[in-house]
Amino acid sequence: MAGATCAHDCAHVAAVNVAACAHEHEAAVNVANEILGTCLLRPALGTVENLICDIPALAADGQICCVLPYAPPPMALTIGIVGLPNVGKSTLFNALTRNNVLAANYPFATIEPNIGVVPLPDPRLDQLAGIFGSERILPATVSFVDIAGIVRGASEGEGLGNKFLANIREADAICQVIRAFDDDNVVHVDGKVDPAGDMETINTELVLADLQTMERVIPRLERDARTSKDNQPALENARAALAILGAGDTLFAKGESAGIDMEQARALQLLTTKPFIYVFNLDEVQLGDAAVRESLATLVAPAEAVFLNAKLEMELTELEAADAAELLESVGVTESGLDQLARVGFDTLGLQTYLTAGPKEARAWTIGKGWTAPQAAGVIHTDFQKQFIKAEVVSFAQLLEAGSMAAAKAKGWVRMEGKEYVMNDGDVVEFRHGAGR
Ligand code: GDP
Repeated sequence: MAGATCAHDCAHVAAVNVAACAHEHEAAVNVANEILGTCLLRPALGTVENLICDIPALAADGQICCVLPYAPPPMALTIGIVGLPNVGKSTLFNALTRNNVLAANYPFATIEPNIGVVPLPDPRLDQLAGIFGSERILPATVSFVDIAGIVRGASEGEGLGNKFLANIREADAICQVIRAFDDDNVVHVDGKVDPAGDMETINTELVLADLQTMERVIPRLERDARTSKDNQPALENARAALAILGAGDTLFAKGESAGIDMEQARALQLLTTKPFIYVFNLDEVQLGDAAVRESLATLVAPAEAVFLNAKLEMELTELEAADAAELLESVGVTESGLDQLARVGFDTLGLQTYLTAGPKEARAWTIGKGWTAPQAAGVIHTDFQKQFIKAEVVSFAQLLEAGSMAAAKAKGWVRMEGKEYVMNDGDVVEFRHGAGR
């Protein structure tokens, strides 16, 4: 029986609400597997056997209930891909999904058709697996959502306007694909290849959508401000944001420097508060031309720019690592566009990783910057957070220098950290907790 209430408090159940009840452990595992088989977050879970928490006997009738906790949101953060028609979005997205890390590493995962999950390149994991003799490597991932194409007038409902806006609202960051490649066989929706003009078109639609939101929000905030003075700052903040939007600028580009409280603005569901990443789809000659790349990067600074050739990315997904590296070198670049995109996306979302390792696997876990050790432990298992005792931590660099955990301990480099410890990127960790005792 799925969905029964359970004595176990599981904070992260909301998305899949996995509650499996059964009369015995094996049946619980089966139910859990069935439910989780269709869950995108399945890969973050590890084995179901390990996850079924201490199966509390629930009622006098002998029924057993268990709740499966799973990794919380960082894993599920998504970046929405937007752009004008015919700029190469589908080509890029196909490359993303072909490269799909879920399929390779997590055989039970079901992949949503419009979600591409790519591994975050992390050479440390190979070294870590070498030190621990790990059987497999599980990288952190970044998820991309394919959002319907945007055209001029989308904010008014043109094209797939409303669907587009709904999809984009759910994304945590916006990745704009911009065409710079020239190809007479590929029609440009506005008649000419014009990266700056295309960006302007898309930004304008997003700004217009936010202005529409403001038409609803400001009168409400005005009413609130009349009821209580305490609500005045929220109104002031919204008015300042409105002024930026009214000038045609995005809040991501201009909000912070204008002193806008971005948290408050985000709470108003304004699209342009989301972080932007710009992906320029260049032809192979442009790709190897530093001057072209620099002039495009200047267009979008301080936002991050990624340069790639979408068709080339498709080809790269079909090659072995050595051949792919050779092909990249032949066009004058060192890193594939997808790798760049994963790295920049991860950073833009404010994420970092910590590492765990053992004979079974070397793994990178996704957490937010500034997270404490108990929060980080909660990504593995909610009970690890609740019953956190200590974290045994060594930096990756020191572990590598020592060559083994035992050697790192002998040098005094492995620290015991408590609840207040703020995690660093690349911490190699083993958590001590009271869960399952
Ligand atoms: P979307 O409408 O933005 O999803 O664009 P598509 O990915 O469907 O691409 C539109 C057309 O442009 C297709 O015929 C692609 O093969 C072509 N295309 C995509 N990327 C490139 C590229 O980097 N160079 C060239 N020459 N053509 C490309």
